[in-house]
Amino acid sequence: MVDKIRHVVCPYCGCLCDDIMIEVTDGKISGVENACTLGAHKFLDDAGNRLKGPIMRTGDEWVDISYEEAIEFAVKVLSEADRPLLYGWSGCATETQAIGAHLAELIGGVVDSTTSVCHGPSILAIQEVGHPGCTLGQVKNRADTIIYWGSNPIEAHPRHLSRYTNYADAYFLHNAFRERRVIVVDVRKTPTAEIATEFVQLEQGGDYHVLSALRAIIRGRGDIIPDMVAGVPKTQLIRVADMCKKAKFGALFFGVGITMTGGKYKNIRNAIEFVDELNRHTKWTISPMRGHSNVYGSNEVFTWITGYPFAVDYSRGIAFYNPGETTAVDILARKEADAALIMASDPGAHFPRICCEHLAKIPTILFDPYPSATTHLCTLQIPSAVNGIDAAGTAYRMDGIPIRTRKFIETGYPTDTELMEKIYDRIRQVKENA
Ligand code: SF4
Repeated sequence: MVDKIRHVVCPYCGCLCDDIMIEVTDGKISGVENACTLGAHKFLDDAGNRLKGPIMRTGDEWVDISYEEAIEFAVKVLSEADRPLLYGWSGCATETQAIGAHLAELIGGVVDSTTSVCHGPSILAIQEVGHPGCTLGQVKNRADTIIYWGSNPIEAHPRHLSRYTNYADAYFLHNAFRERRVIVVDVRKTPTAEIATEFVQLEQGGDYHVLSALRAIIRGRGDIIPDMVAGVPKTQLIRVADMCKKAKFGALFFGVGITMTGGKYKNIRNAIEFVDELNRHTKWTISPMRGHSNVYGSNEVFTWITGYPFAVDYSRGIAFYNPGETTAVDILARKEADAALIMASDPGAHFPRICCEHLAKIPTILFDPYPSATTHLCTLQIPSAVNGIDAAGTAYRMDGIPIRTRKFIETGYPTDTELMEKIYDRIRQVKENA
């Protein structure tokens, strides 16, 4: 029997597209409409790739164990650890993230999300100078000028342009496709640069200089700008500044190309101040292109519960936040963590080698439905239902809008929220009885 399920939310990237149509045949996903290639693969490749149940490393072998045994192992490891690290949290529901934050407090651990290796610098800049942001709906309906800076949505967030910017209809623009101008700033000619009205190719690490030059031009001090700034001709900078000033509503989106290059959070602070400068003349907003489906949610939830958005250390009995010291990479590189719980992320594919080597030496418990690079480092892997496929939950879109993901098939896998609740309750009992 074939069922067509409409208004499914894609749980892959921070766009959280909520117009997906899924075809289910005999309880299995057989078709996907409206999703991009990334989202379609997330749905269509799902069934064949999942682990059937928890696996535990014993010597050189993987052994199948029950969920009950997996929970017992996690409880023992985490309750006995002196410096446990709870990392990831970007592909799970906010309900699970909340348990993670409370668990960190209970066991005196560190809770950090993938934010610390993507938009952590953006948050540091926003904490300093604020955030003139808006919803993606505002961008879609009002923006006539878009900047993608250090971000390549055609490959990383493929429907961002069709739902919200270049190819989207707009309520307040007569002919949105013709009226909109797209400026791409990047170190290489990406596929997004190919469709841009204006492509600004700067030298690696030149973001801060180019932003400063644009700010000076908008302030009326173009006379102090040299002929070339970080590989960009002054004539082009003047042209771009003019386009930005003439916008009726502009939206600057920035990616890890600017957060994870030289200058880091100072680049974002400069970008926010560039937008602030433009707001003396017209209306502009600035927003990060968040990658994982619910990385924004991790910042929201951790802030409600701990007061801080990521990298929260409870080893002193109170929440302590000092990115660069309490972030997962720093704790692993210093070989401090003596146990790790990795939730819905893949540090084995993204962390420096020294961190991966340490994760492989300590008891590492991985929550992931699929084998990943981190599988090769972990001691125990626990597959759970996938948020947005066989589990429902809340996720935050990249503009901070909470969206309820849908469960549309039944697979029998427990959700990570259920598993984490059990682990939390049992560790609390252990602590109370100690
Ligand atoms: S843009 Fe992102 S959320 Fe939308 S369908 Fe593609 S992967 Fe899914």
